[in-house]
Amino acid sequence: MAPTLRRRPAGDPSEFAAAPLLEGGRQPVLILDDVTKTYPNGRDALKDVDLVVPEGDFVFLVGPSGAGKTTLLRLLIRDELATQGRVILDGEDLAKLPRRRVPQVRRKVGIVFQDFKLLPSKTVAENVAFALEVTGTPRSRIRPAVERVLALVGLSAQSEQTPRQLSGGEQQRTAIARALVHDPRIVIADEPTGNLDPMISWEIIQLLLRINELGVTVLMATHDADVVTALRKRVVGLEEGRVIRDELGGGYHRAG
Ligand code: ADP
Repeated sequence: MAPTLRRRPAGDPSEFAAAPLLEGGRQPVLILDDVTKTYPNGRDALKDVDLVVPEGDFVFLVGPSGAGKTTLLRLLIRDELATQGRVILDGEDLAKLPRRRVPQVRRKVGIVFQDFKLLPSKTVAENVAFALEVTGTPRSRIRPAVERVLALVGLSAQSEQTPRQLSGGEQQRTAIARALVHDPRIVIADEPTGNLDPMISWEIIQLLLRINELGVTVLMATHDADVVTALRKRVVGLEEGRVIRDELGGGYHRAG
């Protein structure tokens, strides 16, 4: 069974806010409560989506192209707002967030893209440091933080190289280090192995698993059937904007 919320009576202002809400006392890092996203062209990219992700979970988000995976991930970083329903990240309703608090809440999410999105003229260390510089982190704190995450992803020796001098796997490790440098509550990865060959893909998955073991919640959209089926983690399947399955220990393809 996938985690579900114990609902409180309607009108109870403490709904979703109080702990513990989930089996085992884990806090939900992410809640989508009856979320619909309709784009201005009338397209329903998500329809009536309910999803609860407790802290420490590792969740695969699967589904064919156009199913709504990217839209779901964009709602979590408040790139888009839900048309209906609520998106609650670490206890904060993203639609109700005052503008000045948006950057602070966004830092709770680390993002990893398929195409890495590194700055080509900066070194590995500078790419990671940049994520802290733009948020005004004092210099004295940047260097140790960068060194810590580069060690975690196994790139200490490459810290002065530029992305062009790195393999695809190393570029993705750099992007993962950048995603981690703010100590996020959740890492979302949109097809992080989509540009990598199978061996390197496994290395990246192993790294994401290790990060998850360190306590970071991971939500990964993927088409990589072998990885999903082999790992038997929680699988959330989207189709035409709806959640068609949510199972623990699932394969890439729906059972039965
Ligand atoms: P996936 O990531 O699973 O491929 P998307 O979330 O990108 O799915 O897209 C879901 C649906 O929403 C698709 O039909 C897509 O064409 C549509 N869509 C995505 N972004 C926009 C947009 N900015 N404006 C209009 N329609 C969009």
